[in-house]
Amino acid sequence: MANDKNVLVVNCGSSSVKFAIVDPQDGKVAVSGIAEALGLDDARISWSFQGESKREESLGAGADHARAIDFVVDTILAAHKELLDSLAAVGHRIVSGGDLYSQPTLVDDSVEAGIEKCIPFAPLHNPAHLQGIRAARKVFPSIPHVCVFDTAFHQTMPEYAFRFAIPEKYYTENRIRRYGAHGTSHYYVAGEACRELGADPENFNVITCHLGNGASISAVKNGKCIDTSMGLTPLDGLMMGTRSGSIDPSVIFFLCDNMGYTAQEVCKILNKESGLMGISGKTSDFRGITEGKLAGDEKCALAFDMFCYRLAKFIASYYVPLGRVDAIVFTGGIGENSFRMRQRVMELLAPFGVKIDEVKNEKALVFKGGRGLISAEDSSVKVTVIPTNEELIIARLAADFAK
Ligand code: AMP
Repeated sequence: MANDKNVLVVNCGSSSVKFAIVDPQDGKVAVSGIAEALGLDDARISWSFQGESKREESLGAGADHARAIDFVVDTILAAHKELLDSLAAVGHRIVSGGDLYSQPTLVDDSVEAGIEKCIPFAPLHNPAHLQGIRAARKVFPSIPHVCVFDTAFHQTMPEYAFRFAIPEKYYTENRIRRYGAHGTSHYYVAGEACRELGADPENFNVITCHLGNGASISAVKNGKCIDTSMGLTPLDGLMMGTRSGSIDPSVIFFLCDNMGYTAQEVCKILNKESGLMGISGKTSDFRGITEGKLAGDEKCALAFDMFCYRLAKFIASYYVPLGRVDAIVFTGGIGENSFRMRQRVMELLAPFGVKIDEVKNEKALVFKGGRGLISAEDSSVKVTVIPTNEELIIARLAADFAK
């Protein structure tokens, strides 16, 4: 790789750090890995260089995010000076920038303070991001650091889409509103769909469905998000692996007032014990749900049906903000891989003129790079599968904003 063109992408979770050195031009990944179980006795890190087998080492009991980043630089990259020298920027994935940031932003002390201010909207993630940023700024003091916010892409939503119908003061004084999530992925696949379909970027309406363990859907008009399903936090909207998605708020009062649960306990139920896991009683993994359904497990079948039904209803509702829908994109682990889910959702959308090409849908994985059109020639809407690539887009945005 030539000098000064790679980006170190850092993605800190509450107890993990994912990292990769990515060439923003061609997407080549020189090295990637993950530090896991941070703060616990078995804190460890695994990584692999391009074309080499995976290695794993202990980080020592209780190792934190800073220790993980030090290990990446001092141990993993120590023998690869050319890679260290090739770094043009560090790109940090940030879950919530609230309504403070509508585009990638060069890190300075005031940006760190802004991320701190947004901790209430991402209490598990933003503190971890701050640890990662501080550690990375220390080891790379002379390289630009760029924050890429999951919420930024959704900042173009109109007020009637992002406000909740509660008294105004909770918005003006406490910033309680819809922020959205997965913005980097929605932005990327919306742009890719436009390019692949040869559409005019100034006249292209697309519904993007990011369906992984977390799941969200966006209405994107001419490259700008005008509505999305995740809310104040990533709990709202679609049914997910362990998250309930949208729910009558009275369920929360019922659990607290009639059953004696605390707010924290209800938070755990809705975030960790609901969704596919809660309905199937077995697994949060869509593969397991599909296998269970095929084997005749009624609870798995119900979880599958609910996931598809709720997703199709959300897609249908986005005909309102968009007016005209040119394309629907499926991405994320479930969106890219489950042809059965896609088939069911498209059948439910038949009243809108959506028509599936069953052969293409089943064989989507034989298309180049696992992507391609899965709608029939006479479908009213083009439906396409596009693998997401958040690391690549973070690398590209960081490289652009570091210039
Ligand atoms: P992600 O969070 O994007 O990594 O997606 C994880 C989800 O994708 C899990 O629910 C997986 O079960 C699901 N997934 C991955 N591969 C497949 C597959 N071949 N068929 C169905 N679901 C899959």
